[in-house]
Amino acid sequence: MDNNSKKNNNAGKRISNILDQSEKKLYEALFEISPDMNYLLDKDGYVVNISASSEKYLKYSREELLSFYFLDLVHEDDIDIAKEVYSKVMEKEASQFEIRLHNRDKEIIHFEVSSIPIFEGEEIIGAFGIARDITAKKEIERKLREDEQRYRSLFDDNVDAVITFDLEGRFTSVNKATEELMGCSADELIGKPFLPFIVPSLQEYTIKEFLKVLEGRSIQYETAMYNREKESVDLHITLIPIIIDDETIGIHCIGKDITVQKRAESALNDMAFNDYLTKLPNLYALNRYLDYLIESEEQFSIFMMDLDRFKTINDSWGHEMGDQLLKAVTQRLANHISVESKLFKYGGDEYVIVLKHKNMDEIYELAQVVKDLFKESFVFNEIEISISSSVGISIYPEDGTNMDTLFKKADNALYFSKIHGRNNVVMFRSIENEHDDKLTRMESYLRNAIKNNELSLVYQPQIDMSSREIDGVEALLRWDNPVLGSVSPYDFIPVAEESGLIIEIGNWVMDSACRQIQEWSKTDLGDLSVSVNISTHQFYHMDFITKIQEVLDDTKIDPRLLVLEITESIASNSDIVIDQLIQLKELGVKVSIDDFGTGYSSLKYLKDFPIDYLKIDKSFVQGIEKSKKDQDLVSTIITLAHNLGFETIAEGPETVKQVQFLIEHRCDYAQGYYYSRPITPENLEIWITNYSIKKKR
Ligand code: C2E
Ligand code: MG
Ligand code: MG
Repeated sequence: MDNNSKKNNNAGKRISNILDQSEKKLYEALFEISPDMNYLLDKDGYVVNISASSEKYLKYSREELLSFYFLDLVHEDDIDIAKEVYSKVMEKEASQFEIRLHNRDKEIIHFEVSSIPIFEGEEIIGAFGIARDITAKKEIERKLREDEQRYRSLFDDNVDAVITFDLEGRFTSVNKATEELMGCSADELIGKPFLPFIVPSLQEYTIKEFLKVLEGRSIQYETAMYNREKESVDLHITLIPIIIDDETIGIHCIGKDITVQKRAESALNDMAFNDYLTKLPNLYALNRYLDYLIESEEQFSIFMMDLDRFKTINDSWGHEMGDQLLKAVTQRLANHISVESKLFKYGGDEYVIVLKHKNMDEIYELAQVVKDLFKESFVFNEIEISISSSVGISIYPEDGTNMDTLFKKADNALYFSKIHGRNNVVMFRSIENEHDDKLTRMESYLRNAIKNNELSLVYQPQIDMSSREIDGVEALLRWDNPVLGSVSPYDFIPVAEESGLIIEIGNWVMDSACRQIQEWSKTDLGDLSVSVNISTHQFYHMDFITKIQEVLDDTKIDPRLLVLEITESIASNSDIVIDQLIQLKELGVKVSIDDFGTGYSSLKYLKDFPIDYLKIDKSFVQGIEKSKKDQDLVSTIITLAHNLGFETIAEGPETVKQVQFLIEHRCDYAQGYYYSRPITPENLEIWITNYSIKKKR
């Protein structure tokens, strides 16, 4: 037995001596059966007795424990508490405290301890303690604390405003982000209703949404409020009911500031759906609006409006003036049309008004308003500009049940208005049986083109690639119509062919070109050859050869200066063609195959034709830089053409690289924008002074 144990035994005896027999029994029973760990310490702090339950907690045998000093098992962080409490007890003070002990397995056990001093007379001889295991409770507390902290930080540190409201919509708690967002402190907010902060126009809606949460489900919506600086802040709101025991007692709210996002959205919307200059909704917006009207089966009409001669104003006064005019027209329109009508910008100088009408009178009324709008002129910087407008109207559903048809018919009506003197409002239904087809319209104009002096010829130079001299020019037809503007030959030649007008037009071209040769023959340009395009219809017309003969006789020009460009498709129709070509040869004119390479005829096939030139189609020439295949094609055509005794003309070179390639591959002539666009005879006479002309006489 060591010293400690001896001491313990002594103290234990002294304590048990204090008690009488019955007390002792009771004490021993209580000491032993209690689930708590009861212990006795002597005044030096050694364990003198400890209940059996200690073995369960501390995993030491009772005998072992009886040799421990009171601090032996105390968790290092709790040593100070243990010492302090012990000394308090030794100074006659009962104490209650919590402490952690290590057991043999190094597990930490939390105890709640009550300790009292034990007296022998006046003297304190030790301490009695009851230690209750509270490890489980501590664990729950720790968990709760952790949860609380977690939720706290969700609340406190959230970048979004997190708020709780009572059922009347008053603030009951707010986080830091809320204070920042609203520019108010928590104190200023708590107890106040939120509604006055909401932008007035959204208050009714917001309250409606807010009330939904009282039905017990979470909801989300967007709204906007004013902050302290009276700036509007867009918000995305999530509301969650706080339900305890089936009763909603408050509302959690998360408010996200979406101002930046909203602005970006609206800027994008603006760009996508509004005309840049006038800020009017544009074609996309119009499409959407019409979709909506058609879906909701509303009756409506489309007024397609176009400013007459706007281009002339733009050209003569400049774009800035044009822009100002468009803005002013927009203003005037917006001021005068009724609420039933909506205004859109359709294109450069085109507007569309969509009118939701109930009867025809409303349409007539608006038509009158639009017409009257332009009676007064516009004034900018003391410049007075008078302008009129043409309007075409189509009606849904009478004129069509889809947008395409309605637009097309309104456009047709507009077109009709333009060609009938402009400054007019025309309903599609009133012209339904007239010429509404674009081609027929073009044809009717083309019919009068010669008589009205609307046709002219421009000339594009052809350069000899080895000598850099000008060899000739190609005559290209131009048509300038007061209504249609300048129309591309790619568009009107097919119409002329279809309608048979090509014969008359072709003859006009032939006459004009030969007259030009005749004129130039008296000048320095006398050696220029002139190529004239011959349409298939012309070529097969029975009077074709006679006509050429007549012109040559009339003008007395050198026939070698006239080159007829026929297309590859004519040339591939060999039997009939060959006769005709021979006759042309006899007249002394030259023949060229235009657009060579696009018509699927082979050079082999052409070898029997009495022709002079192959014009390599511009699609190949322009492909030279990008495509090896086009390079091969061009060089092969040149080589084979030379072998067959034809000269080659490259059509459409635009760049120096293309020109270099053509020179390297011995192409004979080139005609393209690189040298010159087709120009008027007057301009040609100026342009040509920089070159010398290849002598032919
Ligand atoms: P084409 O006979 O093949 O005439 C060449 C076309 O290519 C011309 O177009 C000319 O302006 C264009 N061109 C020339 N060099 C370049 C270039 O470097 N780049 C580009 N992108 N284009 C170039 P244009 O004047 O518009 O004539 C188109 C077509 O209309 C002509 O093609 C011809 O088939 C027909 N055409 C023109 N005038 C008459 C005519 O008096 N009678 C007939 N029947 N057809 C004609
Ligand atoms: Mg041609
Ligand atoms: Mg061509």
